Amino acid sequence: MRLTRKVFYDLALFMIGFGLVIGIIFPIFVRLIGIPAEYIDALFVALCLFAGVLVGAFNVMLARTIVGRRMKTLSERMKYVINSLENPKAINPDECLKTCIIPVDSDDVIGESSQSFNDLVKSFLSTLQSEQSMRNFTEIFTNELDLEKLSEKALDHLLKYTQSSAGLILVDKGGTIDITSAYLIKHPDSITKLDIIHKSFTHGKRMLFEFTEDVTVETGLIDFHPKVVLLEPINYKGNVLGVVLLASTSPFSNLVLDTLDVYIHGLSLGMHNALTHDKLEQIAILDPLTKVFNRRFGMERLKEEYSHSLRATSPLGLIMLDIDHFKKVNDTYGHIVGDQCLINITKILRQNLRKGDVLMRYGGEEFLAILPGASMLEVQKIAEQIRRFTEEHTIRYQDQEIKVTISIGGTSYPELDIDNVEELVKRADTNLYQSKQTGRNKVTVSS
Ligand code: GH3
Ligand code: MG
Ligand code: MG
Repeated sequence: MRLTRKVFYDLALFMIGFGLVIGIIFPIFVRLIGIPAEYIDALFVALCLFAGVLVGAFNVMLARTIVGRRMKTLSERMKYVINSLENPKAINPDECLKTCIIPVDSDDVIGESSQSFNDLVKSFLSTLQSEQSMRNFTEIFTNELDLEKLSEKALDHLLKYTQSSAGLILVDKGGTIDITSAYLIKHPDSITKLDIIHKSFTHGKRMLFEFTEDVTVETGLIDFHPKVVLLEPINYKGNVLGVVLLASTSPFSNLVLDTLDVYIHGLSLGMHNALTHDKLEQIAILDPLTKVFNRRFGMERLKEEYSHSLRATSPLGLIMLDIDHFKKVNDTYGHIVGDQCLINITKILRQNLRKGDVLMRYGGEEFLAILPGASMLEVQKIAEQIRRFTEEHTIRYQDQEIKVTISIGGTSYPELDIDNVEELVKRADTNLYQSKQTGRNKVTVSS
């Protein structure tokens, strides 16, 4: 029954009305139980009415304090959650878990309402957390093109999301499986050799291994004994780009397993971008046949090394070499053998150059090696070693055995006094020409 539009006004009218009725009934009741009529005068009746009204008013006040306060809290928190819904990005779920939740301190309908509200808030926060986590996860891919960094961030995110204790990400780099990031895995390299990993790459299907409590997993690969190990292939348009391995001491929830697909799909897009970027970068700087730097990139590196030498007043050696009578090799054995020769020569060069030296394909069968820190004497020594190695080397192709020689020109700054890097290249070239002119299979190093 409603009298007004406000619950507490209705309550007040009923309570005070009820108090008044009691105030009216009380003198009659008093008379009925035998109290003499002279005691029940106007003042007594007025006091009874006043007492009735007072009790009614007091009841309303109590209801307002006890019930009203709780209802007010409920309504305030509801308003807060509704406002938050309008701007979900501004909500801090951990903070909201403290501030939005209502204390449940009564075992009645108010307690039940509060509990239902809290459940609603928790489910809202969990949805919000998933959405925020997904948004952060996808942000990684829009901002990161470096495969290693991308994998590291993605793994970190997946470990947190699935509450896993250890994991790694493996990527197929043109036939070889590489670990791009690992967390708490004892010997990650040995994992790449496991059959199940290869199976995961070839099948492209999720694999979940669950271990019962009394089974000890003595793989020696992981720092602890996991209860579950998940192998999740990263599929991109039917190709498996990589595999995520997650190990946990407690089983993954169905919700995590269901939503993981969305994360992996995002990861596959990011990984595909990073791999393409990687490939484009390689194409831009590497010679496709020999996989050494191309001339454009190599010359940029030479300029950098020259600037560094100027600043550090340290020597800079340069070796230019050319295969002797290479045209004849092509003419005699064909272009494929010629190509194989070029590949073999780069292998010899790599074996004889030091870490930090820079090798580029300067022209068809001409190579340039930058030797930071190498004096004229050191250039002479290394060039002679390369010449000898090549002379002694036999190129085998099918049942053919081919031998080639090279001519070398070398020089070194500052023993060669130069104003720019082009002069250094020019001297190496002149010296190479000298080696050719004086019979080939020779080294000429001079300032
Ligand atoms: P020289 O001793 O004077 O250097 O004689 P050469 O025959 O090596 O020199 P020339 O400049 O006459 O010939 C170079 C040959 O290198 C011609 C060209 O077909 C070959 N060549 C250049 N690039 C490649 C390549 O990528 N693959 C193959 N197979 N041959 C190449
Ligand atoms: Mg040649
Ligand atoms: Mg040449």
